[in-house]
Amino acid sequence: MPKLAKDKYCTGCLACKDTCRHRAISVVLKNGMPFPKVNSDMCVECKLCEKVCPVVTSISKNKVSDMQAYGGWATDEKTRYHGASGGAFGSIAQSFFLQMKSPVVFGATLDNDHVKHIMIDRLEDVPLLMNSKYIQSDTDGIYHQVAQCLRDQHDVLFSGTPCQVAGLYGFLGKKRNTEHLWTVELVCHGIASQEALDIAKKVHHFDKLYSFRNKEHGQAYYVSQCCTYWDGDEKKTMKREDDVFYQIFSTWLLDRKSCSNCMFSSIERVADITLADFWGGAKKEEEYKLGVNLIITNNQHGNLLVESADGIETYPASLQQAINSNSNLYNGYKFVQYHPLVLFPNFFRKVLPEKVRLAILTRKYPWIFLWAPYKLMTKWYAKRMKKIVMKKYKDVL
Ligand SMILES: Cc1cc2nc3c(=O)[nH]c(=O)nc-3n(C[C@H](O)[C@H](O)[C@H](O)COP(=O)(O)OP(=O)(O)OC[C@H]3O[C@@H](n4cnc5c(N)ncnc54)[C@H](O)[C@@H]3O)c2cc1C
Repeated sequence: MPKLAKDKYCTGCLACKDTCRHRAISVVLKNGMPFPKVNSDMCVECKLCEKVCPVVTSISKNKVSDMQAYGGWATDEKTRYHGASGGAFGSIAQSFFLQMKSPVVFGATLDNDHVKHIMIDRLEDVPLLMNSKYIQSDTDGIYHQVAQCLRDQHDVLFSGTPCQVAGLYGFLGKKRNTEHLWTVELVCHGIASQEALDIAKKVHHFDKLYSFRNKEHGQAYYVSQCCTYWDGDEKKTMKREDDVFYQIFSTWLLDRKSCSNCMFSSIERVADITLADFWGGAKKEEEYKLGVNLIITNNQHGNLLVESADGIETYPASLQQAINSNSNLYNGYKFVQYHPLVLFPNFFRKVLPEKVRLAILTRKYPWIFLWAPYKLMTKWYAKRMKKIVMKKYKDVL
């Protein structure tokens, strides 16, 4: 039987499932998260799934010396408004459609409270992929579709979390080295389980989610990071501090386990372009109200794409500034993986009254004291990692 990544490390990218010609791999849900399961009766032991798994077989990353950091945002107001940060992804995708001969763009879309990767081939559909969705996107079948598009001579822009880009590179193998493929990854601190959204809807008595991140009240961290729900025909935006989804999301207690051991949250990046929020990196304070991106081009291929995108205003920034503004850019280790609710999720789901479990998940008093040490240790660890990264790359930062 092939040895795929252990549950603790498996990102659920599903490149293994896409690659199996014998359909021996299916998807099972554990804690609301997808994991591959090998059917031993159908498996022919070709081990192709091991080869494409970016956790089992490491994939090459970009050199830090080739990276260039920028601050920036979409010049089009609407695009900037609808992006989670400064709308850079939207502008890159729009200019991709305008510049390339035969463009297609892949990314995550929200569909009936679920998130899945889709392909779009029309400029008008870019808004479908815009904005952050903080639950795991279903990528089943998507790598096949990318490979087919490349075979059909399309120009492909693929966006997703770093582990999904790694899954794509694992799936494509040497075919990733083509001039017709560009990849965009987000700086990602972790992906929450579908259960977090289900709990939030239940507690707030809302029917459906409209958006995970809404700028109606401005971009500043504490006002834009809040969900907007459908309450019948009306949209209702929660305050961040009252929003059960964000409360759970910010404790990381319902995150995928691999997100506490992320090998792609390192300063050596996977994709051609990395996008993030740029807290502390704007030239003027008022820019935050509209949204500011940290844009890192990780190689020449990505740099050419960003520099040729008409709809982005960029200004040079340093990698040091980028590191100072974002610990998820270089640290993927979280101590919350040792929290009892994360170690024994099913046991506690069974034995704890729903109200108590919710209070722990949303770090209500006194449960916050159980959670805080894990958070503090993670902060301490990230500081240590920062020192290591700064020392290792002092000549290029
Ligand atoms: C789960 C998650 C965690 C994040 N954590 C951080 C963080 O800790 N720090 C930080 O600075 N930034 C984080 N980000 C990135 C940030 O929220 C913005 O997405 C990023 O700055 C790009 O913003 P934008 O305005 O340019 O584009 P947007 O229009 O906001 O971004 C859209 C892009 O995000 C992709 N995307 C959205 N949701 C998903 C998903 N669920 N899975 C895969 N791809 C998705 C789409 O495919 C599209 O390419 C995170 C994003 C996600 C999805």
